[in-house]
Amino acid sequence: MRRKPIVAIDGPAASGKSTTARLVARRLGYIWVDTGAMYRALALKALWEGIGSENHERLKEMVGRTDVRLKERGGDLRVFLDGEDVTEAIRSPEVTHAVSWVCTFPFVRQAMVKLQREMACDGGVVMEGRDIGTVVVPDAEVKVFLDADVKERARRRWRELRERGVDVSLDEVEQDLTERDRKDTEREHAPLCRAPDALVVDTTSLSVEEQVDRIVGMVKVYMANRKKQIAKRKSQNLLKPCV
Ligand code: C5P
Repeated sequence: MRRKPIVAIDGPAASGKSTTARLVARRLGYIWVDTGAMYRALALKALWEGIGSENHERLKEMVGRTDVRLKERGGDLRVFLDGEDVTEAIRSPEVTHAVSWVCTFPFVRQAMVKLQREMACDGGVVMEGRDIGTVVVPDAEVKVFLDADVKERARRRWRELRERGVDVSLDEVEQDLTERDRKDTEREHAPLCRAPDALVVDTTSLSVEEQVDRIVGMVKVYMANRKKQIAKRKSQNLLKPCV
């Protein structure tokens, strides 16, 4: 049994996963792992090297010699690609477009899932993405599927982009989100879907604080139940080592 649980958060684009995962991790003192950032880093490198979606062999060779790492710095998550900090560069519209095809290849997913499992195995992790509760850590103790109305998600993403100085219309953002969700849901390998044992949290009319409170609450309930189970097993002498 892990000392601390793994919290798996999946959901469509702009459903609030990153903001929520970061704050839940901060409240619990856990590590935050943004798996989308890892796929984005690979997409950035593919763009730098001029590798297109038809060029599987070159992409496969590139993945084999690429180092992707997430590091916590000053309470923030930084993304490193072969040692270079690309945290801001991976958020460009070009990368957002490229990641949709880069992440569909099984060899890309296998490489990233291996790293993600290494990061999760000791517990005390809040990991967010599209396939965390279904593929990466199906035995995660707390599973959440964050969702929100597409219009609300588009408004949130549009405001975020405008703050970063990106000039784009609300309609374009909504179309882009819908298209990304369609690709993520319909792809053959590790598609976006809710794990049967994940709890759906609809964030359409929730504040960030409420979202965070709900998930932290789920973790507390899990920990309280676990304590009870351990106490029960102790009282039945079930925790004695075998000799
Ligand atoms: O979460 P974010 O939008 O940054 O993720 C970028 C893209 O990476 C997603 O649109 C999705 O296609 C892909 N992704 C994935 N599996 C994950 C996380 C992200 O396929 N676990």
